[in-house]
Amino acid sequence: STTDTATGGARLPLRRGLEGLTPYGAPQLDVPVLLNVNENPYPPSEAVVAEIADAVAKAAHGLNRYPDRDFPELRAELAEYLQVESGVALGAEQIWAANGSNEVMLHVLQAFGGPDRSVLSFAPTYSMYPEYARDTLTEWVAGRREEDFTLDVDHVRAQIAEHRPAVILLASPNNPTGTALPLDTIEAVCDAAAGAGPSGSDGAPTDAVVVVDEAYGEFRREGVASALTLLDRYPHLAVSRTMSKAFGMAGLRLGYLAATTQLVDHLRVVRLPYHLSAVTQAAALAALRHRAELMSQVASLRAERDALVTWLRGRGLTVADSDANFVLFGLFDDRHEVWNGLLERGVLIREVGPEGWLRVSVGTPQETAAFRAALEEVLGR
Ligand code: PMP
Repeated sequence: STTDTATGGARLPLRRGLEGLTPYGAPQLDVPVLLNVNENPYPPSEAVVAEIADAVAKAAHGLNRYPDRDFPELRAELAEYLQVESGVALGAEQIWAANGSNEVMLHVLQAFGGPDRSVLSFAPTYSMYPEYARDTLTEWVAGRREEDFTLDVDHVRAQIAEHRPAVILLASPNNPTGTALPLDTIEAVCDAAAGAGPSGSDGAPTDAVVVVDEAYGEFRREGVASALTLLDRYPHLAVSRTMSKAFGMAGLRLGYLAATTQLVDHLRVVRLPYHLSAVTQAAALAALRHRAELMSQVASLRAERDALVTWLRGRGLTVADSDANFVLFGLFDDRHEVWNGLLERGVLIREVGPEGWLRVSVGTPQETAAFRAALEEVLGR
């Protein structure tokens, strides 16, 4: 018989709005030089691998039991890390974590978004944001960034006043542009968001939740402060981070957020029970014990990034200032042709951002050299 294994013949009640959509994600191609998803190019050392394996083996003995739903030890270690990294003292109960900051942000929208609510962000920005909105039935509102990819505070204020969003998502450093927002911009957004959210159950206006997504925070240049330093002044502010980038642990899937205990407690309501597996918790704790070693490459990645910006500008290209571990450059009449020319030479970068721009992640010196050589060939100079 010839049953159609793709559909089985069923007409499934796919939710309205999901028709024809495909899963999000950059192409996963088998190419020698992978500079397309802003990973840290340095794998963990043998010593770190051994420690993680040991911690996971210990956790494996208890895998007949569900893990700790509230993982206080991991939250305390993450708070401790933030104190060292940004000088901001936080309690463990002010930290939340999930499987990547993607899931953390989904929790934020599950708790604060929903039907009749909107989430405001400013484009170009991280392309998963509209998907969090879609998946939580929250209206997606995209304001604009300026030509240099910063925010015009008057525009932000006008958008907040017009839409009364429940959540405002600000990536800083932004993906795909690399732009970090100055603290006074974030302060202005927090001020404008206070009392400007949708009405609460008592009919009175709420404070819109401002989420500063600092997935790339550790790569910021000298003199750029973290939004963590504003947490004690704004109870409607949350700052999210991840172990995927600076820690070089993208495969671990561990993202986290810092905010007031009240805000974190709202997120705990919408999480699935036991969402962070015992294996994830054990591996994350082991990785955090080795954070100095895991993060020892951050300074050289930053230096490599700055050198890449200078090199691209030296070739007459336009390059966005970057506080992240990637660089947005252009402008090309046919960016796809440039992207494809690099791919033919074994270098995979990302065709993303406004028309004409391309994004390249900072790799090892060897990988970045391969990218430069390939680009020179493609551009014919
Ligand atoms: N925020 C931004 C701005 C990102 O670029 C990414 C990863 N590409 C994420 C969040 C999600 O990272 P993860 O889920 O791996 O923590």
